[in-house]
Amino acid sequence: MKNRYDMVVVGAGPGGSVTARRAAEKGLDVLLIEKRQEIGTPVRCAEGLSKMGLGDHLEPDRRWIAAEPGSGRIHSPDGTQVIMSEKAAGNEVGYVLDRKIFDRALAYKAADAGAEVYTKTAAKGLITNDGFVKGVIMRHFGDLCEVSSDIVIGADGVESLVGRWAGIDTALKASDMEAGAQYLMSGIDVDQEFCEFYLGNNLAPGGYAWFFPKGERQANVGVGVLSSMTDQPAVKYLDNFVKRKFPEGHILETVYGGIPVLGQIERSVANGLILVGDAARHTDPITGGGIANAMNAGVAAVGVAVKAISIGDTSTKTLDEYERKWRSSAFGIALKNRVAIKKKFIKFRDSQLDNLAHSLKDVVIGEMTISGLMAELIKQNPKALLDLRKVVF
Ligand SMILES: Cc1cc2nc3c(=O)[nH]c(=O)nc-3n(C[C@H](O)[C@H](O)[C@H](O)COP(=O)(O)OP(=O)(O)OC[C@H]3O[C@@H](n4cnc5c(N)ncnc54)[C@H](O)[C@@H]3O)c2cc1C
Repeated sequence: MKNRYDMVVVGAGPGGSVTARRAAEKGLDVLLIEKRQEIGTPVRCAEGLSKMGLGDHLEPDRRWIAAEPGSGRIHSPDGTQVIMSEKAAGNEVGYVLDRKIFDRALAYKAADAGAEVYTKTAAKGLITNDGFVKGVIMRHFGDLCEVSSDIVIGADGVESLVGRWAGIDTALKASDMEAGAQYLMSGIDVDQEFCEFYLGNNLAPGGYAWFFPKGERQANVGVGVLSSMTDQPAVKYLDNFVKRKFPEGHILETVYGGIPVLGQIERSVANGLILVGDAARHTDPITGGGIANAMNAGVAAVGVAVKAISIGDTSTKTLDEYERKWRSSAFGIALKNRVAIKKKFIKFRDSQLDNLAHSLKDVVIGEMTISGLMAELIKQNPKALLDLRKVVF
């Protein structure tokens, strides 16, 4: 490892690897570090990604596609089903990934493009000078070392420390978080065509339960609950759900993780530093999905970082362009608007959720997106959802 790079990227999740790759492709000398000894494990994800979300970040590859469900099915508390079927509409469908392989494939791409990738290398602090981030203090295997750079990218996930070290308020309130618990289960009968979503205040307060197919007789079965709406751990809800749906199944893997779904981060840049992905709370408030947003944020960050380095000005004044770019992008606008939608939906009683589902009972929504679903809900329930019109359309 050298002691100086143009860019140091902390964290080799989807956000960090895409940033490192795109920066290396633009000719920057890039170091990508990952604290774990293996990229992609342990998985903390239900692994759902739309084809649109994959974009041009990777060519589809059988090795990391565990299933290709064409439809989604939402189950309201009384069992009413709402079907979202892109396949029926002749559109593209989604993937359930194998993230152990997917995350590695993204890191390979970064390395192929010329980034240096080091695992078992954890950022421990930042080098600062005159209020500017100038590099990263890291533990590389057993050794503590300092690596300087023009710019540092914090892609260190939901528990990000990099932002905090740079003076950004990244503290997450428990009330803004969803607690997620998931089992990878085998020996269960699941329709590989559908991602299933279950709603209900007893089942998953403030969130939902899911199962996403993962190939023959396997699925990710999980629950996300809003921490402010229950004092019970998510795993308790998960165990109840599993007992009801898959009493015969075997648990092959357990996943726990926090998902920031309410308040947005106030700043995602500091002098010499940019945050991307979960570190900048880029997860969708409704679905909890963050893979696509992390990758797209990485692309936006590189555009601004390359410019800042070339003019020798990595101050917040220059890096603010990134802040403006992502907040005004499609995903930035969606994040803001969906907080409002989420806040309204978590107040609904089960009977209100049932009524909304009844209104869509005979409608097949030809889009597996929150926007498609919300548009149809508002069309069928203009009075009840009047206040959401301005955030959906
Ligand atoms: C239960 C659950 C289910 C989910 N389901 C979905 C889903 O179906 N679809 C979806 O799109 N999203 C889902 N998400 C969210 C998704 O996992 C994240 O949004 C996504 O991984 C964000 O990517 P990232 O690169 O920002 O961060 P991460 O993938 O978290 O990567 C951050 C990396 O930084 C490393 N790191 C941390 N600190 C340091 C350090 N000091 N030094 C070096 N490395 C460090 C970590 O080890 C990690 O590898 C889910 C999350 C949970 C918890």
